[in-house]
Amino acid sequence: MIDFELTESQKQIVGTAQEFAREVLGPAEVALDKISDPEQVFQGKLYWNCMAQAFELGFHKMAIPEKFGGLGLDPQSTHLVWEEIARWAPGFAAGLIPSGVAPQLICFLTPDRKDLTEKFVAPYCEDKSGKRITSWCSSEPEIGTDGSNYYDPKVHHHTSAAKKGDRYLLTGAKSDFVSNGGVADSYIVFACTNPELGIKGSGTFVVPANAKGLSHGKALDKIGLRVLNQAPVVFDEVEVPGEYLLFPCGELYPMLHNSIITVGNLAVGYLAVGIMRGAYEYALEHSKKRVQWGKPIFQHQLTAAKLFECWQAIESARAFLWKGSWLSKNKFLGDVKTSLAAKVYATNQAVKQTAEMIQVLGGYGISKEYPVEKFARDANLLKIMDGANDILIAKAAAFL
Ligand SMILES: Cc1cc2nc3c(=O)[nH]c(=O)nc-3n(C[C@H](O)[C@H](O)[C@H](O)COP(=O)(O)OP(=O)(O)OC[C@H]3O[C@@H](n4cnc5c(N)ncnc54)[C@H](O)[C@@H]3O)c2cc1C
Repeated sequence: MIDFELTESQKQIVGTAQEFAREVLGPAEVALDKISDPEQVFQGKLYWNCMAQAFELGFHKMAIPEKFGGLGLDPQSTHLVWEEIARWAPGFAAGLIPSGVAPQLICFLTPDRKDLTEKFVAPYCEDKSGKRITSWCSSEPEIGTDGSNYYDPKVHHHTSAAKKGDRYLLTGAKSDFVSNGGVADSYIVFACTNPELGIKGSGTFVVPANAKGLSHGKALDKIGLRVLNQAPVVFDEVEVPGEYLLFPCGELYPMLHNSIITVGNLAVGYLAVGIMRGAYEYALEHSKKRVQWGKPIFQHQLTAAKLFECWQAIESARAFLWKGSWLSKNKFLGDVKTSLAAKVYATNQAVKQTAEMIQVLGGYGISKEYPVEKFARDANLLKIMDGANDILIAKAAAFL
């Protein structure tokens, strides 16, 4: 039996997320979006106050098992929260989603390694300052969509990890696009240990931000999601203990990479639904008040059709994503094809529908005094985030 009813605890956490996002994160994001120098966004108190409150409420640790100090929520419950936060504050949602990548991977890959869980998971779960953000570094200046090219042995990460006794020396640079790159406290890093294996020659390391030789560049100045910090991360002979290699290079690399992408793409899909809702809800209200040609513009059939199609896109994208979340809950690692397809569908719709909602507002749609243009700018990043949609389609099609 298919059931769309939320449980009492899901309703509760969605309610908390909605109130917090509407009252705190949303207004802060609108203010931060207007700051022209992105570095100032992450140097000011407003961003960090918001992160501290988000951590206080536990949104950073929803997916971490209870025995490690997390909330132990299932993927469906976690995803409901991301949609709700993205409805009001997509940039904050986009930063909070990967903020737990390092502790989540450690719990998943090395649950019995007490040294790692005590160093990287417990402090993250206990943090109330919002500063223990983590980040994952795969893409590089020369490795974009090639990050999924497991087939050409000439293509490998240029960031290398050379063995030195029982330690590794990491050298190289990750791309300008690394989410939380300039604000993270620790990083998951894909670094090549065996170039002969191509992309599969990369090991997966956890690296603390304060390791000697690690630095990051300036925050990227971009069209949307301006509250999501994206910055390059540079490794200049960064020495880490051998134990920080969480997953060795080899034939299982695509399995690990795809499992991160399966989870990540669903979350990006929910960002798209939240963004569409933000634009739709505002445009619908506007259309019922704005009178032209003698009646509210909602009563002109072509305008109502635009709003109807946006609502239809929200409902269908969410239903597809719920199937992906359900598969993630019930099947180990989830289903790559469904996650990628749902993300591609939701993000393509988000770009299309937010443009249509600008049209519903007419001239007010392009004005920064109104919120719809921001949702449209934010939506554009999602077709590239966690993999460019064209490549995700090719990847998903291989599972048909
Ligand atoms: C919001 C956001 C957050 C991100 N966060 C992170 C992060 O946390 N960590 C991280 O490591 N990276 C991150 N990235 C980087 C992201 O993974 C890359 O931007 C993405 O993989 C695309 O790589 P690229 O930008 O170099 O584009 P390119 O690889 O240069 O591709 C450019 C265009 O060419 C198309 N193309 C390329 N090859 C083919 C092909 N074979 N067939 C058809 N079309 C093709 C692509 O689809 C794309 O449209 C983020 C990006 C964004 C936008």
